[in-house]
Amino acid sequence: MIYMIPNNEFITQEGVPGPTKEEIRCLVMCKSKVSKKDVVVDIGCGTGGLTSEFAKRARFVYAIDKNSAALNTTEKNLKKHDLDKKVQLIHKDALNALKNIENFDILMIGGSGGDLPSIIKESYNKLNENGKIIVTAILLETPVEAVKTMEKLHMKIDIARVSISKGHVTERGTMMVARNPITIVTGKK
Ligand code: SAH
Repeated sequence: MIYMIPNNEFITQEGVPGPTKEEIRCLVMCKSKVSKKDVVVDIGCGTGGLTSEFAKRARFVYAIDKNSAALNTTEKNLKKHDLDKKVQLIHKDALNALKNIENFDILMIGGSGGDLPSIIKESYNKLNENGKIIVTAILLETPVEAVKTMEKLHMKIDIARVSISKGHVTERGTMMVARNPITIVTGKK
């Protein structure tokens, strides 16, 4: 399923980051190779941009966030797109939430609050063979941390940094407006 939910179809709330922009969601879906058999854990669900896309394609999704406003917004978006039955919302920080989840196929990390290495290490044991850990990062340090941790676990790593510009029509022509570069790190078990 190639179709992505347009950015403007997400309900947003002040103070809740996201949704991850359409083109980035598209790349994350491709890198994850998510299929109907997969159980996905989405850490830092924010507005629910990635949670919604995974819910459209996977068997089941656990959406985790330490911010209750984020879970609230994610829930609204899942209901709006009729995807809420496939998702369990968990209001906890990542490390506590992971303790109560059995094995899964894809771990999406969209926010880690400084706990990235521990989150990757803790989840690795519960990641099914050939499973993937995906990190989307706006900070420079995050991909480095992710790669170092994944290397220690002997994961197969793919790193892609993308800079998307969107065209805005002006009187003089179409101006390309740059968005923040995003780095997508994918580790395969
Ligand atoms: N992928 C989301 C946007 C993610 S924003 C979307 O498409 O809408 C990152 C989120 O990670 C924030 O909501 C933040 O509260 C959450 N977060 C950061 N560190 C966390 C942690 N350790 N445990 C749980 N959630 C965390």
